[in-house]
Amino acid sequence: ASTVGVLNVLNFVKKIRKTVMLHSSTSEVYGDPNEHPQKESYFGNVNILGPRSCYDESKRMAETFIYEYKKIFKLDLRIIRIFNTYGPRMRPDDGRVVSNFIIQALSGEDITVYGDGKQTRSFCYVDDLIEAMILIMNQDEIIGPVNTGNPNEFTIKELAEMVIEKINPDLQISYSPLPQDDPMPVSYTHLTLPTN
Ligand code: UDP
Repeated sequence: ASTVGVLNVLNFVKKIRKTVMLHSSTSEVYGDPNEHPQKESYFGNVNILGPRSCYDESKRMAETFIYEYKKIFKLDLRIIRIFNTYGPRMRPDDGRVVSNFIIQALSGEDITVYGDGKQTRSFCYVDDLIEAMILIMNQDEIIGPVNTGNPNEFTIKELAEMVIEKINPDLQISYSPLPQDDPMPVSYTHLTLPTN
């Protein structure tokens, strides 16, 4: 979807011309970043061969396609990079951190923090993301990429504590191993990660 699919859409836009294509890229293009917060000018720190790499690398390639099609065929293209978005209508079994924690708290279960919870994320509310998408589509000076996140990063532990406080103060945090190549704050990138 992120490579062949994007090329198909680009070729379609090339054929019909009179349209703006917004490419939804991702903060994953930064991999496990060495800069916090990430500016659009940062090139990232992506593992080529890790379990997340097929996603990261394909989204990076898609951005390159957009730039080349813009340059060669002068198409009306835009790129935003979506950060961790949350809001109504997330699937309960989505597996992402916000929905997991809320579902666990509502079910009276412990909150499952992976690693020590000091990893950070930039959470974006879905309405803000949609507003950003509309703004970038309705102008033609900025092609992007434009990062759509939160100027403040929050630790996963802070998120767990907020969910516990708001939903059920009796719940506990249960810690389990961090998945491989999980993006970490810069001070963690050269440390040995906890294995349990
Ligand atoms: N995470 C967690 N518990 C969960 C789900 C996720 O501690 O039940 C952590 C996960 O390891 C990561 C962060 O929360 O460090 C965000 O995970 P998510 O899958 O939501 O987003 P992504 O890693 O793609 O940014």
